[in-house]
Parts: sequence; C-alpha cells; structure tokens
Amino acid sequence: MPEPYWPKKKDYLLSNLNDGRQMVRVRCCYCRRTHNYFPSDLIQIFGDVDVDSLMCRMKCEGCNSPGSIRVDAFSPTGSEAVGLRVRRLVAIKIQRVPVWRDE
Ligand SMILES: [Zn+2]
Repeated sequence: MPEPYWPKKKDYLLSNLNDGRQMVRVRCCYCRRTHNYFPSDLIQIFGDVDVDSLMCRMKCEGCNSPGSIRVDAFSPTGSEAVGLRVRRLVAIKIQRVPVWRDE
C-alpha cells in the first residue's frame, strides 16, 4: 500500500471515527450542555470534515453562543456505553425564507 501523500497530522475526519466506532462529544462551555453524536449523522449535515472544524461549524442549541463549543472524539467503553444518550439526526429541515419586494 502506498503511503497517503497528505501529511499525517491531526486531521481527523468524521469518516475516520466511523471506522473506529468512535463517537463525537459536543460540549458547550457556557451552559454545559453535552450531546453525543454518531459521526455518520454529522457527515450528513457537514460532510466528511475534520472533527476539530466542527467547533466553528456547530452552534450550541441551548445558548446559541458562538465559539463556546468543544468537540472531542471518544470511544464509549463498557459502562460508559451503557445508557449513553445519543443525539440522533431525525431529519434535515430546509428552511423557507421569504424574500419580498414592493412593486
Ligand atoms: Zn450553550
């Protein structure tokens, strides 16, 4: 197998987590909400992006404050995996925004 040509730095794509059965934990520093996500759900929204880049892409659902999001990849093990609440993607809603003009 040839080595990949890109530098092996900390670029961690969401699809890498899928392979390793890892999950994504998203925390808000302000209101201390924590949600756990499956990488496959996040890929549907953001595409197969770098995990760290989610910190700028996601917004806290509670306080809406920008820049308060911390994102970690983790592998739920044993006791942690039991009863772990996972925030699943139910649907992606397309918002209809009216645009008006006086005539
Ligand atoms: Zn918050």
